[in-house]
Amino acid sequence: MYGRVRSLFLRPESSEDVFPMTPFIIEKTETPTDPVKRTELLANPAFGRVFTDHMALISYSADKGWHDAKITPRRPLSIDPASTVLHYGQEIFEGMKAYREKDGHVATFRPEANASRFAASARRMGMAELPEDLFVQAVDELVRVDQDWVPSGEGQSLYLRPFMISNEVFLGVKPATEYLFIVIACPVGAYFSSGCVSVWVSEHYTRAAIGGTGEAKCGGNYAGSLIAQAEAKDKGCDQVLFLDARERRFVEEMGGMNVMFVRKDGKIVTPPLGGTILRGITRNSLIQLAADQGIEVVEEPVDIDELFSGAASGKYTEAFACGTAAVLSPIGKFMRPTGEAVFGDGKTPGPVSQQLKKALTDVQGGRTNDVHGWIHRIS
Ligand SMILES: *Cc1c(COP(=O)(O)O)cnc(C)c1O
Repeated sequence: MYGRVRSLFLRPESSEDVFPMTPFIIEKTETPTDPVKRTELLANPAFGRVFTDHMALISYSADKGWHDAKITPRRPLSIDPASTVLHYGQEIFEGMKAYREKDGHVATFRPEANASRFAASARRMGMAELPEDLFVQAVDELVRVDQDWVPSGEGQSLYLRPFMISNEVFLGVKPATEYLFIVIACPVGAYFSSGCVSVWVSEHYTRAAIGGTGEAKCGGNYAGSLIAQAEAKDKGCDQVLFLDARERRFVEEMGGMNVMFVRKDGKIVTPPLGGTILRGITRNSLIQLAADQGIEVVEEPVDIDELFSGAASGKYTEAFACGTAAVLSPIGKFMRPTGEAVFGDGKTPGPVSQQLKKALTDVQGGRTNDVHGWIHRIS
């Protein structure tokens, strides 16, 4: 057992949060991907379809705590049909990336932030909390074993997907007593092709309500957003924007990205975190990087009607979505049944979006001084 078994619903006490390095059993694959084949795969990886050779696994049970930490060949899981996750959806995940730095080393970006958000998601979903050090260590161990899979091309990285499922064989409705934490990895290129994305404003479906699970990174949030995303596609848009559930009036976020706006007065505006918006690490990093450049970021509600009239009047000059997978995606226009809000010519990324994207990707790629200590070197 690693560390002390905590009661499921208590917040961790920090003094007990210090765990020694956990021994991982490393079982390497006997059939690694041929290096020539890997080079081919890395040249142009499609998002989320190409995976590395290994995965990290850690088990939890109420009596043993976290145990059996290992790296194994990537392979299918064997799950009982009565496993709780298949019925009640206790599932949470993270999304982060390992980058090939300019100097050739491999590093992740703010992994402690992912670890602590993962623990917060676990608390909200009534799941066992993985100690944050163990989360970071599991990611490190996997990246080290699969480090040849970290691509070095522009905009490329190794996308990491830590996730946890409840895995008790029981059909009763209650928090499970067994969990499985897993990390898988896939090399990725740019998420969206360059240029701007178009966004459909969902006036019917909402993503999260106060007191709900909007702040937890759980699979269920995504399941609930897919119909709205499909509607957006149907309307010819790339992405969907959700409004607040109470009034359908204030901008919240996209299905999997936070959103920001640039105003004519030079300030950036982004909706405040209030329990219904995911606490994006990209969002947080961009707020800091903007401040570093003397750009003020105000976190205040953005009224959707005011956004549409402000785009027309020139009060709002740029809009962009941000998240780990897509980094920073300039938004060319928003669409709703009554009209469009277009930024610039609707096709060309604005100067502030480009400047911030460069600032962020330069830190992540080790091309600029890491003044905030965000880079976590692995190899
Ligand atoms: C993951 C996610 C984000 C972005 O978070 P990052 O930490 O920046 O990757 C934003 N919104 C939702 C709903 C998400 O699931």
